[in-house]
Amino acid sequence: MTVPVRRSVAGLPRYVAGKSAGRDIDAYKLSSNENPYPPLPGVLEATARACARLNRYPDMANSAVTAAVADRLSVHPTQLAFGAGSVAVLYSLLQTVCEPGDEVIFAWRSFEAYPIAVQLTGATPVPVALGPGAVHDLAAMRAAANQATRAILLCTPNNPTGPALANDAVINFVDSLPEYILIILDEAYVEFVTDPHAVHGFEVMSGRMNVAVLRTFSKAYGLAGLRIGYGVMEPELAAAVRTASLPFGVSNVASAAAIASLAAEDELMARVAGLIKARDEVAHGLLDLTFDVPDAQGNFVWLAAGPLTADYARAFTAGGIAVRPFVAGDEEDGIRITVGEPEANSRVIAIASTLPH
Ligand code: PMP
Repeated sequence: MTVPVRRSVAGLPRYVAGKSAGRDIDAYKLSSNENPYPPLPGVLEATARACARLNRYPDMANSAVTAAVADRLSVHPTQLAFGAGSVAVLYSLLQTVCEPGDEVIFAWRSFEAYPIAVQLTGATPVPVALGPGAVHDLAAMRAAANQATRAILLCTPNNPTGPALANDAVINFVDSLPEYILIILDEAYVEFVTDPHAVHGFEVMSGRMNVAVLRTFSKAYGLAGLRIGYGVMEPELAAAVRTASLPFGVSNVASAAAIASLAAEDELMARVAGLIKARDEVAHGLLDLTFDVPDAQGNFVWLAAGPLTADYARAFTAGGIAVRPFVAGDEEDGIRITVGEPEANSRVIAIASTLPH
């Protein structure tokens, strides 16, 4: 007899990782919103030094990277909680506040880890359809809140559709809700945002105890393979999240890489600027071909392909581009294409120009 699995776990949706580019050496992986650049200057040296201590557990308190991030963001170190990627912090944060019977609201379609993270706590996911322009429908999300609501996730810019939320709209939204509801702003792609009206997570947090911001080193900083991200929130909540986190969940190699990356700010900014320029070129290229592309504020663009999603995905694969199709069998289906190497980005437009629509 097999050991019974908790019902909420047995019913979990699967997290589908972006496909690799396969063995085709001429192929590009634009399927996981990764950074196409190698580690920032100084990172490999710092990780090599950290590797010399692999026989030791990492610092349980993540003291050095906590100090470096607190300094960079001008927040107090007690406001920070680190994890193996910001998704690990999200898991711990939800476990810290949610119980069976609670509800967690998030937009849909959004980051596919959300329904999994929520259901692992035993809470009930409450997805709320995106509004026009693939933007969070904050009025509908507000209307979905009730006494069972424990947390609301706002993904800005939204993965996989691209738009960022507006600062005023988020502040009004938070202030319209009771303070017992935790508002989690997932800013995994914040470094790529150029919309002048976009939300500033720390401004929303200021003076409000019920707002948490999630950030990661996986995207702009290019450390997806090392798994390090963090949350910023009020100190008591942050302390509870640290208690709920996997012990030694952040390796000393990841911490060293994060600290070295923070020290390479100029090069980081130059790379981010290049990726933003390329993103805008890909988005405009697709719009010029009359595709439906929502405002792209991350390091990816969303091709709202509807029923043609599977066909388009096949065409990209055949052209040597691994993309991430989302197929639920409805009008909201589409393809997320990460901004990559210049040759990959040109190839995306070349392939798109052959697609029927
Ligand atoms: N949030 C969003 C919106 C994401 O798209 C991702 C990565 N796909 C993450 C969080 C998690 O990133 P990581 O765990 O690598 O920090």
